Amino acid sequence: MKPERLLVVVSAPSGAGKTTLCEEAVRRLPRLVHSVSYTTRPPRADERNGRDYRFVDEAAFRRMVAEGAFAEWATVHGHLYGTSRRDLEAHWAGGNDAILDIDTQGAAILREKYRDGVFIFILPPSFAQLEARLRARRTDRPEAITRRLARAREEMAAYPLYEYVVVNDDVERAVAALCAIITAERSKSRRFTPAPEMAPDR
Ligand code: 5GP
Repeated sequence: MKPERLLVVVSAPSGAGKTTLCEEAVRRLPRLVHSVSYTTRPPRADERNGRDYRFVDEAAFRRMVAEGAFAEWATVHGHLYGTSRRDLEAHWAGGNDAILDIDTQGAAILREKYRDGVFIFILPPSFAQLEARLRARRTDRPEAITRRLARAREEMAAYPLYEYVVVNDDVERAVAALCAIITAERSKSRRFTPAPEMAPDR
């Protein structure tokens, strides 16, 4: 039997530092890969197609929806975002665990489809800190920031639906917690395939 690979779903209000935490977890843990989402949002100055997102127009995205290409997709801040089913399967087939940085709507869809997924919510230490981080980031226009803050409040209310919560009060501590969760999930006995001579008698 092939050991099952993990689906790690990480959600957070924007500005909680989730992208940094996910990137750092991928750097530190072997066999953990970030699943690059498709989006219709225009790229930001520092973003690269294929690394941060696969940037597509709405027609292409809608075509993929019609073909059933997405494991989940959602409208976030007026743009479409989705996780390719084929990408996920390729990660697992390659023997990797997949980590997804997606919103709460997408996570809700995956919770129904992948009962064995690991669902982690990142919280900022406070709403005031979240607002300060979003304003300091200067990547969005003021109206977009206001929209993101309103949505952040809604998103934060979803944390009880997740199995794990990580408060990002300190990046080093938060990354350590995220890695510890993934390592513990990997160590679950049901995911262990014993060598033949170690298999319990049945
Ligand atoms: P941003 O535009 O700031 O990169 O992301 C906005 C929000 O969309 C974030 O909450 C991010 O997690 C979410 N997001 C990114 N990719 C996906 C995806 O494939 N599916 C869903 N449902 N949300 C996504």
